[in-house]
Amino acid sequence: MHFSSRLLEQAVDEFGRLPGIGKKTALRLVLHLLKQSNSDVSRFTHSIDQLKEQIRYCATCFNISDQEVCEICTSVKRDHETICVVEDTRDVMAIENTNQYQGVYHVLGGLISPMDGVGPSDLKIDALMERLKNGEVREIILALSATMEGDTTIFYLYRKLKDFDVQVSTIARGIAFGGELEYVDEITLGRSIATRVPYERNIG
Ligand SMILES: [Zn+2]
Repeated sequence: MHFSSRLLEQAVDEFGRLPGIGKKTALRLVLHLLKQSNSDVSRFTHSIDQLKEQIRYCATCFNISDQEVCEICTSVKRDHETICVVEDTRDVMAIENTNQYQGVYHVLGGLISPMDGVGPSDLKIDALMERLKNGEVREIILALSATMEGDTTIFYLYRKLKDFDVQVSTIARGIAFGGELEYVDEITLGRSIATRVPYERNIG
């Protein structure tokens, strides 16, 4: 791609770094922004600056939050005896959209993947075990993708969770089209949480 301006090239390079954005799409987005008013573009860049500077992770569940502890963790309407363990914030959003789940969450921040150099200590696994120490939690639902990394993580967690007096369940594993929870439709995902099964039955 030949650029008539170094600034244009620089902006296209930056947009092109985003996942799923090729050079052509990056150029289209940059040219679109150039046509917008200064105030529109300022609002856009300001929201990204603020996002990175001010966003926090809930001190309890590690979901993305504006506060020290997120709204789900502080809500008295939620069932704090049930924790649903997920890979990232997108999964929390997908499950919340089903309106079928009243418990709380724990966001791991990824899945165990030796190929990518991600081990248990890179994830919020120790923090999950800490949450169980007061004995209030009765059930852990492992809602992780039906991929090799998801299975590895589930097996690792299951072995660690054996030390605690909690029921460990998994959501129906056949449901994750393409392995990604966020792509499953709300009705299917909601049903799979409602009909979750004890993990032992899956490995038996
Ligand atoms: Zn939280």
